[in-house]
This record gives sequence, structure tokens and C-alpha cells, in this order.
Amino acid sequence: MKKIAILGSTGSIGTQALDIIEQNPDLFCATVLTCGSNADKLSEQIAKHKPALAVTAYEDDAVALSKIHPDTEFLYGMEGLTVAAAMADSDLVLNALMGMRGLIPTYCAIEAGKDIAFANKETLVAGGELIMGAAAKHKVRLLPVDSEHSAIFQALQGNEHKNINRLILTASGGPFRGYTLEQLEKVTLAQALKHPNWTMGSKITIDSATMMNKGLEVIEARWIFDMPAEQIDVVIHPESIIHSMVEYVDHSIIAQLGVPDMRVPISYAFTYPDRIENNCSSVDFFELGTLTFEKPNRKTFQCLDFAYEALKAGGSYPVVLNAANEILVQQFLENRISFIDIQNTIDKVLQEHEVIYHLDMEGILEVDKKTRGELEK
Ligand code: NDP
Ligand code: MG
Repeated sequence: MKKIAILGSTGSIGTQALDIIEQNPDLFCATVLTCGSNADKLSEQIAKHKPALAVTAYEDDAVALSKIHPDTEFLYGMEGLTVAAAMADSDLVLNALMGMRGLIPTYCAIEAGKDIAFANKETLVAGGELIMGAAAKHKVRLLPVDSEHSAIFQALQGNEHKNINRLILTASGGPFRGYTLEQLEKVTLAQALKHPNWTMGSKITIDSATMMNKGLEVIEARWIFDMPAEQIDVVIHPESIIHSMVEYVDHSIIAQLGVPDMRVPISYAFTYPDRIENNCSSVDFFELGTLTFEKPNRKTFQCLDFAYEALKAGGSYPVVLNAANEILVQQFLENRISFIDIQNTIDKVLQEHEVIYHLDMEGILEVDKKTRGELEK
């Protein structure tokens, strides 16, 4: 029985992870569940899964829930998340938190020697060097949950660092694929929230529409697979059937395919190197007919290049890229700025930034806070 601590259990990845646990009660149980503000959903999950520990973002929610669920211990806030991440009685931590708030809990989980099923890409974008260094030191495994990285992990088959030409990340292109820059200026929040192939949390859905998601994934791939930016390519593949590919030096390409369903990469991270059955559907090739590919339109979707540039420049640039993006996406979700303002403002913020190298945890948090502060003024 694998005991899994789920950070962010009420989110899109978190709830799908709990589906897998529910369908395999002999294999898995949830020892930790956590939420931000959705205490009602957390309460339902606690009633079903009876975790030893639950964490809310706010103290009031923790106090109220502890009266309903006396057998579960309750904590709250960042301190609660750090305890949850390092809890002795868990074998694996699923980090399904959204955003940079996952950085400190990830670090704590690694220091406690926990393997991590990793969905929380913002943490690797901002703190990739720090996290990968700590993971190597503590001999902890980061098992990718993001579908592209899971695909590459599966296509590598243990060949990390051996004979690889390039990693090829596929991207659906999002709801505005084929748009010009002028068309992008007029899009609405409702349109941006309609992803053609995936149902996900609101932040990553907007990231997919700006293509920042693919940019963040390039940086995530750089750290997880220790590959330079020059050897990571992006191909638009609107059907989202090929989840990503590895090209070897002999130009042989190995791809991983499947219907777009996050339960596949989540359960692979839970069972690696084994696999388990699930009730996801098979790819119907005859129904599909064709798989198509396009070049990313970098003139319209500039966030992809911002991510490559931030990665190549290094130091504090990716921290600034991520912090600015988190704040601007939130402002767009609150209808305070337009869609195009996201990329225009990130461009400006990156151009004005004076880079700092060799950041430790404190340094990363400081740059993150400063960037957010300036955009929230
Ligand atoms: P969601 O927004 O659906 O869920 C985020 C989780 O974080 C929820 O449990 C949420 O709680 C919690 N949270 C939010 N704010 C706080 C806070 N202040 N303190 C503590 N917890 C908080 O996101 P997703 O599940 O879509 O994504 C999670 C991560 O996985 C992201 O990094 C994303 O990029 C990545 N990912 C997601 C994919 C997907 O299909 N969804 C695919 C690949 C990667 P609450 O519900 O209470 O708000
Ligand atoms: Mg992805």
C-alpha cells in the first residue's frame, strides 16, 4: 500500500489523483489532503479518504473542519504545507499546488527524503537549480506528472544523458491557434478559458491560451531532464494525441501517445516503473484519421520566446518571468487587464529587470515578492 500525501487535493490534478486512489484501494491511500479556500470540497474528501492530516490556507477553515472531522489533524498556511510535505507516514508526495507557493513545500519534502510526483511546474521554473540540487543530494526522485514530461520520461526509458539529439514538446496551440496579434487583442476571458482538449485549473488554462504554459514546460524540461534550451523544441500538434517525443542521435524518434487524460501520467508517477489498468479510453486511430503538426507562431504568441530567453539568460530571469505571469494571469482572471496585456507587460518587466545570479531560497523568494509587489501597485 503506497501512502500518498496530496498537496492541492481540491484542484484539477488533485481530484483526478483521488479518483485513481479510489479506484485502487488495495494499492494506494491518501495520508494528507490540502486546499486553498475550498474548505467544503476538502471536507467531502476528508470524509471519504480519512487522511491523518489536512491543511487549509486559512486558520478559520482549519478550526471549523477539525470540529467535523475529529480523527484528522488540521494545520493551516505555509507552515501547515511544509509539515504536510515532510510527514513521516507517507511514501510519495504529489505536488499539485498551483504556483510558486509549491517551492518551500517541495524543498521540505526533498529534505525529508520523499519521492515527489511533480505537477507544480512553477516551482521548477523559479527554483529549478535549487530543487534539482537538493533532489540529487537527498537521492529523491522527481516523477513528472505534466503530460509532456511524463511522455519524455517514458520515451527515455532510462537513457537520460545518452545519445539524445533533442526533446520535442508538443503543444495543442490552445483556443487561439491561428490568430493574428490583432485578433489576440480582442479576445475575452470566456474565450481564453475554453481549452480545446483539456479541462484544467483556471491559471494553467490561461497559460495554455498565451502559450506561456509551453514556455514554462520548456524550463521544466530543462531541469527535469538536464537538457539545454537549444536541445528542447516545441511543435504544435492540435489533436493532443502525441504527448511529446525524444529524438536520439540516429534521428530515431520515440513518442508517447494516448488520449488527453491526466489520469494516465498521474497514475504512472504513482506506480513507476509499473503500470496499472484504468478506465481511460484508447486512441481510436480510424476515428482520428490524421495527426497534424505546425510551427508555433512566435509573432503572435510571444510568451514562448520570453521563456526561452529567460532560461538562456538564467539567474533571476525565470523567477521574474514566473512571478509576473502569475500576477498578470490573476489580474486577467479578475477582468482587470486584457489578454494581450499579459505578454506585453511580461516583456516590459523582463526588459527592465537587472539580473541576479546564484540565488538561494531566500533570494528566489525576494525576487518573486519584489516582482509581484511592483505589478500589484
Ligand atoms: P487548480 O487551480 O485546479 O488547483 C490548485 C490547488 O492548489 C487546489 O487544491 C487549490 O485549492 C490549491 N491552492 C490554491 N491557492 C492556495 C493557497 N493560497 N494555499 C494553499 N493551496 C492553494 O490547479 P491544477 O490542478 O490545474 O494545477 C496544479 C499544478 O499542476 C499547476 O502547477 C499546473 O500548472 C500543473 N498542471 C496541471 C495540469 C492539469 O491538467 N490541470 C496539467 C499539467 C500540469 P482550492 O481548490 O481550495 O483553491
Ligand atoms: Mg503540460
